[in-house]
Amino acid sequence: MVTKEQILRWLQTFATQIEQNKDYLTELDAAIGDADHGINMERGFKKAIAQLPTVADKDIGSILKTVSMTLISSIGGASGPLYGTFFLRASTAVAGKEELTVEDMLGMFKAGLDGVLGRGKAQLGDKTMIDVLSPAVSAFQQAVTEGKGTLEAMQRAVAAAEQGVKDTTPMIAKKGRASYLGERSIGHQDPGATSCYWMLKSLLETLA
Ligand code: ADP
Ligand code: MG
Ligand code: MG
Repeated sequence: MVTKEQILRWLQTFATQIEQNKDYLTELDAAIGDADHGINMERGFKKAIAQLPTVADKDIGSILKTVSMTLISSIGGASGPLYGTFFLRASTAVAGKEELTVEDMLGMFKAGLDGVLGRGKAQLGDKTMIDVLSPAVSAFQQAVTEGKGTLEAMQRAVAAAEQGVKDTTPMIAKKGRASYLGERSIGHQDPGATSCYWMLKSLLETLA
């Protein structure tokens, strides 16, 4: 079971990872975007973390919903609505729960991924967050099908996410600002895919 305390620690760990590496995210975005992904993510998650004490005694769904609302209202650009939608849909999937089974975790991830797909309309291979989220959720699902527990499923999801980030480098961007560059986007790792990988890695670190 994943506890509420672990979910809170996950969000804190992810926020710290972003804060400590925001310049790297911004450098990645400078190459193929407008050099603000690190700034956007840091601003949004700092505010989200600041809200956590007010909801720490609520259920996991309420905690994730608060994160979502804060991200939507405080991050501009593409990543705010996309991360906001991920957490909003994830929150709905685990509404009212104080701890999560591996099936709950799968439901949370699938709902989050569906939300980002619906909102951003990106497909696998478009050089976006989807190139990390989609293979990670598939790997998690496969592990659940094989009867694995949350830790092993999460390890496999993170391994798939790590490969997914690397795979964005040779891709031509088809969505978001990077798509304006066309073929010149080739050879650069996608910033949003990178932060998504960190989001999943932070969760694994919290569970391990
Ligand atoms: P902006 O591009 O508005 O400045 P950010 O720099 O914060 O926003 O975020 C850029 C990231 O958002 C990209 O690296 C990409 O991963 C992600 N992204 C952009 N458009 C989409 C989309 N339609 N679907 C999924 N992810 C997207
Ligand atoms: Mg940007
Ligand atoms: Mg921007």
